[in-house]
Amino acid sequence: MRFPIEVHNKFIPVSGFSWMTWLVFCFTRKPKDVHLEGTTRRHELVHVVQQGELSVLFTVILLPIAIHFSFAWWAWTLVILGILFAGWICYGISNAIEFFCPPFGKSYYYTCWETEAYNHEDDPGYLRRRIPIWGSLKHIPNRLVRHK
Ligand SMILES: [Zn+2]
Repeated sequence: MRFPIEVHNKFIPVSGFSWMTWLVFCFTRKPKDVHLEGTTRRHELVHVVQQGELSVLFTVILLPIAIHFSFAWWAWTLVILGILFAGWICYGISNAIEFFCPPFGKSYYYTCWETEAYNHEDDPGYLRRRIPIWGSLKHIPNRLVRHK
């Protein structure tokens, strides 16, 4: 099985986007005979790795909180939602930060997640030499953004 796993559907992602990654799945509204290839596959694969790392990080942070609160229902909910949507949560937070900081109007491209994915989507060997977590964090400075 090749990752990310394509999910063709009628609703996700919203208009204006062609593919949207969630954990190991990549959603598209494109016809079933259109597949992830080359540059786009490598781009989305970077997002799969980013989201996997963030899910592990959220597990390490949230699980002790749930244990501390004796596994109350809300603590379990927090842990499960946090693990499943760690990537989207961090993506949303960094998008909001970029939205309120210059340069304005391009917050999507200026998140470290997109900067990393766009900067390395042409490099087939990138994920093999990438340092976990640091691969994303080092792309926080906006001067590293090549795709505009
Ligand atoms: Zn992307």
